[in-house]
Amino acid sequence: MPKKLYKFLLIFLAVVLLSIWAAIAKAPSDKNLHLSVLNVGQGDSILIQTPEHQNILIDGGPDNSVLDGLGQKIPFYSRTVDAVVLTHPHADHLFGLIEVLKRYQIKHIYLTGVVQTTNEYLEFLQTVKDKNIPTSRVKLGDEMSFGETSFKVLWPADNLQAKTVENLNNSSIVLSVSYHAFSALLMGDLESDSQDLMMNKNSLGHYNLIKIAHHGSSNGFNAALLNQIKPEAAAVSVGADNKYGHPAASTISGLDKLGIKIYRTDRDGTLEFLSDDSTTWKK
Ligand SMILES: [Zn+2]
Repeated sequence: MPKKLYKFLLIFLAVVLLSIWAAIAKAPSDKNLHLSVLNVGQGDSILIQTPEHQNILIDGGPDNSVLDGLGQKIPFYSRTVDAVVLTHPHADHLFGLIEVLKRYQIKHIYLTGVVQTTNEYLEFLQTVKDKNIPTSRVKLGDEMSFGETSFKVLWPADNLQAKTVENLNNSSIVLSVSYHAFSALLMGDLESDSQDLMMNKNSLGHYNLIKIAHHGSSNGFNAALLNQIKPEAAAVSVGADNKYGHPAASTISGLDKLGIKIYRTDRDGTLEFLSDDSTTWKK
Protein backbone atom coordinates (compact mmCIF):
# COMPACT_ATOMS: atom_id res chain seq x y z
CA MET A 1 0.00 0.00 0.00
CA PRO A 2 1.40 3.46 -0.86
CA LYS A 3 2.52 5.32 2.25
CA LYS A 4 0.22 8.27 1.54
CA LEU A 5 -2.87 6.08 1.29
CA TYR A 6 -1.88 4.26 4.46
CA LYS A 7 -1.59 7.56 6.31
CA PHE A 8 -4.93 8.71 4.91
CA LEU A 9 -6.63 5.49 6.02
CA LEU A 10 -5.18 5.82 9.52
CA ILE A 11 -6.49 9.37 9.85
CA PHE A 12 -9.85 8.34 8.43
CA LEU A 13 -10.12 5.51 10.95
CA ALA A 14 -9.17 7.82 13.80
CA VAL A 15 -11.89 10.30 12.78
CA VAL A 16 -14.48 7.53 12.57
CA LEU A 17 -13.52 6.18 16.00
CA LEU A 18 -13.56 9.66 17.51
CA SER A 19 -17.03 10.40 16.18
CA ILE A 20 -18.37 7.09 17.47
CA TRP A 21 -16.84 7.84 20.85
CA ALA A 22 -18.34 11.36 20.81
CA ALA A 23 -21.77 9.94 20.03
CA ILE A 24 -21.56 7.41 22.83
CA ALA A 25 -20.36 10.08 25.25
CA LYS A 26 -23.42 12.15 24.31
CA ALA A 27 -26.00 9.60 25.36
CA PRO A 28 -26.93 9.86 29.02
CA SER A 29 -25.53 6.66 30.44
CA ASP A 30 -26.31 7.39 34.06
CA LYS A 31 -29.34 6.31 36.05
CA ASN A 32 -30.79 9.82 36.13
CA LEU A 33 -33.87 11.30 34.60
CA HIS A 34 -32.82 14.15 32.28
CA LEU A 35 -35.32 16.93 31.63
CA SER A 36 -34.00 19.43 29.12
CA VAL A 37 -35.79 22.63 28.24
CA LEU A 38 -34.17 23.09 24.84
CA ASN A 39 -33.03 26.52 23.74
CA VAL A 40 -35.28 26.99 20.70
CA GLY A 41 -35.77 30.76 20.94
CA GLN A 42 -39.31 32.10 21.30
CA GLY A 43 -41.18 28.83 21.72
CA ASP A 44 -41.21 25.59 23.69
CA SER A 45 -39.47 22.27 23.27
CA ILE A 46 -38.75 19.94 26.18
CA LEU A 47 -36.89 16.65 25.94
CA ILE A 48 -37.24 14.09 28.70
CA GLN A 49 -34.77 11.19 28.71
CA THR A 50 -35.56 8.40 31.12
CA PRO A 51 -33.01 6.25 32.93
CA GLU A 52 -34.25 3.43 30.67
CA HIS A 53 -33.11 5.50 27.64
CA GLN A 54 -36.49 6.50 26.30
CA ASN A 55 -36.86 9.91 24.67
CA ILE A 56 -40.06 11.91 25.11
CA LEU A 57 -40.29 15.20 23.23
CA ILE A 58 -42.87 17.77 24.27
CA ASP A 59 -43.33 20.40 21.52
CA GLY A 60 -40.80 21.30 18.85
CA GLY A 61 -40.28 25.07 18.97
CA PRO A 62 -40.76 27.71 16.26
CA ASP A 63 -38.09 26.56 13.76
CA ASN A 64 -35.63 23.75 13.11
CA SER A 65 -33.29 24.63 15.98
CA VAL A 66 -34.87 21.70 17.82
CA LEU A 67 -32.79 19.45 15.53
CA ASP A 68 -29.59 20.88 17.02
CA GLY A 69 -30.97 20.33 20.50
CA LEU A 70 -31.88 16.72 19.75
CA GLY A 71 -28.55 16.16 18.01
CA GLN A 72 -26.78 17.20 21.23
CA LYS A 73 -28.82 14.82 23.36
CA ILE A 74 -29.60 11.80 21.20
CA PRO A 75 -26.72 9.89 19.61
CA PHE A 76 -26.85 9.47 15.82
CA TYR A 77 -27.22 5.69 15.99
CA SER A 78 -30.44 6.02 17.97
CA ARG A 79 -32.84 8.04 15.86
CA THR A 80 -35.83 7.07 17.96
CA VAL A 81 -38.24 9.25 19.87
CA ASP A 82 -40.59 7.13 21.96
CA ALA A 83 -43.26 9.79 22.25
CA VAL A 84 -43.99 13.23 20.89
CA VAL A 85 -46.50 15.43 22.70
CA LEU A 86 -47.93 18.47 20.93
CA THR A 87 -49.36 20.65 23.71
CA HIS A 88 -51.28 22.84 21.25
CA PRO A 89 -50.93 23.62 17.54
CA HIS A 90 -49.45 27.13 17.68
CA ALA A 91 -46.40 27.53 15.44
CA ASP A 92 -43.99 28.26 18.33
CA HIS A 93 -44.68 24.75 19.68
CA LEU A 94 -45.40 22.94 16.45
CA PHE A 95 -43.14 24.00 13.60
CA GLY A 96 -39.93 22.17 14.56
CA LEU A 97 -41.84 18.92 15.02
CA ILE A 98 -42.51 18.58 11.28
CA GLU A 99 -38.82 18.03 10.51
CA VAL A 100 -38.39 15.89 13.63
CA LEU A 101 -41.16 13.61 12.34
CA LYS A 102 -39.37 13.34 9.01
CA ARG A 103 -35.91 12.60 10.43
CA TYR A 104 -36.60 10.49 13.52
CA GLN A 105 -38.51 7.31 14.06
CA ILE A 106 -41.45 8.39 16.22
CA LYS A 107 -43.23 5.62 18.09
CA HIS A 108 -46.30 7.53 19.24
CA ILE A 109 -47.83 11.01 19.13
CA TYR A 110 -50.09 12.51 21.78
CA LEU A 111 -52.20 15.57 21.05
CA THR A 112 -55.65 17.01 21.74
CA GLY A 113 -56.98 16.98 18.17
CA VAL A 114 -58.24 20.55 18.53
CA VAL A 115 -59.04 22.29 15.23
CA GLN A 116 -56.33 24.46 13.68
CA THR A 117 -56.15 25.25 9.97
CA THR A 118 -52.71 26.79 9.49
CA ASN A 119 -50.46 25.39 6.76
CA GLU A 120 -47.88 24.15 9.26
CA TYR A 121 -50.48 22.19 11.22
CA LEU A 122 -51.89 20.65 8.05
CA GLU A 123 -48.36 19.67 7.02
CA PHE A 124 -47.76 18.18 10.46
CA LEU A 125 -50.94 16.07 10.21
CA GLN A 126 -50.07 14.99 6.67
CA THR A 127 -46.59 13.91 7.81
CA VAL A 128 -48.12 11.89 10.67
CA LYS A 129 -50.38 10.21 8.13
CA ASP A 130 -47.62 9.59 5.56
CA LYS A 131 -45.38 8.03 8.18
CA ASN A 132 -48.21 6.07 9.74
CA ILE A 133 -47.40 7.18 13.28
CA PRO A 134 -49.82 5.90 15.95
CA THR A 135 -51.65 8.83 17.52
CA SER A 136 -53.70 9.31 20.69
CA ARG A 137 -56.00 12.17 21.62
CA VAL A 138 -55.53 12.92 25.30
CA LYS A 139 -57.39 14.77 28.02
CA LEU A 140 -57.59 15.08 31.80
CA GLY A 141 -56.98 11.78 33.56
CA ASP A 142 -54.98 10.09 30.82
CA GLU A 143 -51.67 8.58 31.87
CA MET A 144 -48.58 7.34 30.08
CA SER A 145 -45.55 5.71 31.59
CA PHE A 146 -42.04 5.14 30.30
CA GLY A 147 -40.05 2.88 32.57
CA GLU A 148 -40.28 4.38 36.04
CA THR A 149 -41.24 7.82 34.75
CA SER A 150 -44.92 8.58 34.63
CA PHE A 151 -46.91 11.29 32.90
CA LYS A 152 -50.39 12.43 33.89
CA VAL A 153 -52.52 14.71 31.76
CA LEU A 154 -54.02 17.47 33.96
CA TRP A 155 -55.57 19.51 31.14
CA PRO A 156 -57.61 19.91 28.89
CA ALA A 157 -60.68 18.82 30.89
CA ASP A 158 -62.62 17.74 27.80
CA ASN A 159 -62.00 15.76 24.65
CA LEU A 160 -61.11 18.45 22.09
CA GLN A 161 -60.99 16.18 19.06
CA ALA A 162 -62.38 18.18 16.08
CA LYS A 163 -63.46 20.98 18.44
CA THR A 164 -62.90 24.63 17.67
CA VAL A 165 -61.77 26.73 20.62
CA GLU A 166 -61.56 30.47 21.10
CA ASN A 167 -58.05 30.51 22.55
CA LEU A 168 -55.68 27.69 21.63
CA ASN A 169 -53.39 28.55 24.56
CA ASN A 170 -56.13 27.33 26.88
CA SER A 171 -56.35 24.02 25.03
CA SER A 172 -52.75 23.23 26.05
CA ILE A 173 -51.93 19.79 27.35
CA VAL A 174 -50.59 20.23 30.89
CA LEU A 175 -48.38 17.36 32.01
CA SER A 176 -47.43 16.20 35.45
CA VAL A 177 -44.15 14.27 35.22
CA SER A 178 -42.83 12.18 38.06
CA TYR A 179 -39.86 9.95 38.67
CA HIS A 180 -39.49 8.68 42.25
CA ALA A 181 -39.37 11.79 44.46
CA PHE A 182 -38.91 14.21 41.56
CA SER A 183 -41.83 15.96 39.94
CA ALA A 184 -42.25 18.58 37.25
CA LEU A 185 -45.31 20.44 36.05
CA LEU A 186 -45.23 21.38 32.36
CA MET A 187 -47.79 24.09 31.71
CA GLY A 188 -47.75 24.56 27.93
CA ASP A 189 -49.23 28.00 27.26
CA LEU A 190 -52.21 27.62 29.61
CA GLU A 191 -53.34 31.07 30.74
CA SER A 192 -54.14 32.07 34.30
CA ASP A 193 -57.96 31.81 34.15
CA SER A 194 -57.72 28.26 32.77
CA GLN A 195 -55.06 27.45 35.38
CA ASP A 196 -57.74 28.20 38.00
CA LEU A 197 -60.08 25.72 36.30
CA MET A 198 -57.26 23.17 36.13
CA MET A 199 -56.67 23.55 39.88
CA ASN A 200 -60.38 22.86 40.48
CA LYS A 201 -60.18 19.63 38.51
CA ASN A 202 -56.96 18.29 40.08
CA SER A 203 -55.71 18.21 43.63
CA LEU A 204 -52.14 19.30 43.14
CA GLY A 205 -49.39 18.68 45.66
CA HIS A 206 -45.81 19.87 45.69
CA TYR A 207 -43.68 20.00 42.51
CA ASN A 208 -39.91 20.46 42.35
CA LEU A 209 -40.00 22.21 39.00
CA ILE A 210 -42.52 24.14 36.94
CA LYS A 211 -42.17 25.01 33.25
CA ILE A 212 -43.82 28.41 33.44
CA ALA A 213 -46.80 28.87 31.16
CA HIS A 214 -46.74 30.94 27.99
CA HIS A 215 -43.08 31.98 27.94
CA GLY A 216 -43.44 34.02 31.14
CA SER A 217 -46.23 36.21 29.77
CA SER A 218 -48.20 38.05 32.47
CA ASN A 219 -51.33 36.07 31.46
CA GLY A 220 -49.53 32.80 32.34
CA PHE A 221 -48.72 33.83 35.92
CA ASN A 222 -50.96 32.45 38.65
CA ALA A 223 -49.82 33.07 42.24
CA ALA A 224 -52.46 30.70 43.68
CA LEU A 225 -51.07 27.81 41.62
CA LEU A 226 -47.50 28.57 42.65
CA ASN A 227 -48.51 28.87 46.30
CA GLN A 228 -50.15 25.49 46.08
CA ILE A 229 -47.36 23.55 44.35
CA LYS A 230 -44.46 25.48 45.96
CA PRO A 231 -41.85 24.66 43.30
CA GLU A 232 -38.18 25.15 44.06
CA ALA A 233 -37.36 26.09 40.49
CA ALA A 234 -39.09 27.62 37.48
CA ALA A 235 -38.01 27.21 33.86
CA VAL A 236 -38.95 29.95 31.41
CA SER A 237 -38.67 29.03 27.72
CA VAL A 238 -38.30 32.32 25.90
CA GLY A 239 -36.38 33.97 23.05
CA ALA A 240 -34.01 36.89 23.65
CA ASP A 241 -35.47 40.29 22.61
CA ASN A 242 -38.76 38.78 21.46
CA LYS A 243 -41.48 41.08 20.14
CA TYR A 244 -43.97 40.08 22.85
CA GLY A 245 -41.88 41.38 25.75
CA HIS A 246 -41.79 37.88 27.31
CA PRO A 247 -41.09 37.20 30.07
CA ALA A 248 -43.18 39.91 31.76
CA ALA A 249 -41.37 41.83 34.49
CA SER A 250 -44.35 41.05 36.73
CA THR A 251 -43.85 37.30 36.21
CA ILE A 252 -40.18 37.50 37.13
CA SER A 253 -40.80 39.64 40.21
CA GLY A 254 -43.72 37.40 41.21
CA LEU A 255 -41.48 34.32 41.09
CA ASP A 256 -38.74 36.19 42.97
CA LYS A 257 -41.17 37.19 45.70
CA LEU A 258 -42.16 33.55 46.19
CA GLY A 259 -38.49 32.56 46.47
CA ILE A 260 -38.57 30.37 43.35
CA LYS A 261 -35.27 30.03 41.51
CA ILE A 262 -35.65 31.15 37.89
CA TYR A 263 -33.89 29.57 34.90
CA ARG A 264 -34.38 31.13 31.45
CA THR A 265 -33.42 29.73 28.07
CA ASP A 266 -32.73 33.22 26.68
CA ARG A 267 -30.00 33.75 29.30
CA ASP A 268 -28.90 30.25 30.31
CA GLY A 269 -29.38 28.41 26.99
CA THR A 270 -30.69 24.85 27.17
CA LEU A 271 -31.69 24.04 30.74
CA GLU A 272 -30.93 20.51 31.82
CA PHE A 273 -32.40 19.22 35.06
CA LEU A 274 -31.34 15.88 36.43
CA SER A 275 -32.88 13.69 39.03
CA ASP A 276 -31.79 10.46 40.62
CA ASP A 277 -34.41 8.79 42.76
CA SER A 278 -34.17 11.27 45.63
CA THR A 279 -32.86 14.72 44.74
CA THR A 280 -33.06 17.27 42.00
CA TRP A 281 -30.56 19.76 40.66
CA LYS A 282 -29.61 21.66 37.59
CA LYS A 283 -26.58 20.62 35.64
ZN1 LIG B 1 -46.17 29.43 22.95
